[in-house]
Amino acid sequence: MEERLQKLLSQAGVASRREAERFITEGRVAVNGTVVTELGSKADPERDRITVDGQPVRPAEKKVYLILNKPVGYMTTLRDPEGRPIVTDLLKGLDVRVFPVGRLDYNTEGLLLLTNDGAWANRLAHPRHEVDKEYLVRVRGAVAKEQIRRLATGVELDDGPTAPAKVEVSSQSDNNTWLSIVIHEGRYRQVRRMCEAVSLSVVRLRRVRYGAVSLGDLKPGEYRPLSPTEVAALA
Ligand code: URA
Repeated sequence: MEERLQKLLSQAGVASRREAERFITEGRVAVNGTVVTELGSKADPERDRITVDGQPVRPAEKKVYLILNKPVGYMTTLRDPEGRPIVTDLLKGLDVRVFPVGRLDYNTEGLLLLTNDGAWANRLAHPRHEVDKEYLVRVRGAVAKEQIRRLATGVELDDGPTAPAKVEVSSQSDNNTWLSIVIHEGRYRQVRRMCEAVSLSVVRLRRVRYGAVSLGDLKPGEYRPLSPTEVAALA
């Protein structure tokens, strides 16, 4: 799509809008080899070759936001020295490189966000952002009211006490209990360590919600783009 040159140059990070206008009027900008000095001139970053002082300008990469249902047995790092599978192995046919927002353990499954938008990812990961994250946790055996109360009010971990959490029994069978735990902190192996601190043995751990975004019916290994509304709701 055609855009004004000064906008394209500032989107590509070459200069501010104002500076880009100056570059144009100074005759430093060319489109397909022809110098352009008119401020209203437009170009198509996909089609046209734009240069500043003879150096090609690379178009700004389009922003991609994905939600993946991470299966157990995948790393959320971009490389694993031990050669284990990594989550980006699950993404097919993407023409940009994305990275995970935060981490899920190798043995944790569920909602993982991926993006190439560093500013968005940093905002989300910032402790001040306090996004609710909901986990379904399957633990061995029955869970006592006192254990739920302690998880909900906060338990002492070696890196300090946890903030209050919302904890409910989601379902119960003879041998296991599924708990729903909503936290807004994101410390290393936090849910597992919280359960350990109240003597609960975690059998499965699945993240099902991140703020306003839910895993829904995505199967393990499946992913989809976030809707613009979802992206905005998390920003
Ligand atoms: N808490 C954990 O213990 N592990 C995760 O992967 C996420 C939250």
